[in-house]
Amino acid sequence: MVKGSGNQTKSVPNKHLHARIAYLHQAATHLALKQQPVTKNDLSDTNSHLQQHGLPLLLAAQLQAVSQKAQIRLSHDMKRSICKVCSTPLMPDTTSKTRIENKSRAGKKSWADVLVIQCQNCSTEKRFPVGASRQKRKAERKAALAEKEKQNPEEVEMANS
Ligand SMILES: [Zn+2]
Repeated sequence: MVKGSGNQTKSVPNKHLHARIAYLHQAATHLALKQQPVTKNDLSDTNSHLQQHGLPLLLAAQLQAVSQKAQIRLSHDMKRSICKVCSTPLMPDTTSKTRIENKSRAGKKSWADVLVIQCQNCSTEKRFPVGASRQKRKAERKAALAEKEKQNPEEVEMANS
């Protein structure tokens, strides 16, 4: 047996858990879309204040539990599509409302744009800055500063004092 091609066939660790997460996500979003919203005047239902209830929330909560237990990072989109508080699968225009907020004066600063996703089940908001560019990691900032210092040390000293 030649062991040379080992790298190509290297399997993903916890492959079955990735599959489980994908399945739970599909099932939760599918069921949440199919679920009949509870009407406001149906007061006999104890959960009448919640639009979503039951299986979709349970599946989404399980999804989060699996990822936490196995320390599997959820994809960007998947993580954003589950409410942190009530585990509702968040889908635009049905279980969540999406808007762009800009709290700068007269909305002049385009980099102050914030994407707000509000859960229609529990009104919790997720907020993501979209206009601003992300700050570099600390190591990168230090490296940049050191580089600048090398080139003209006097200027950096002035800036620090
Ligand atoms: Zn919620």
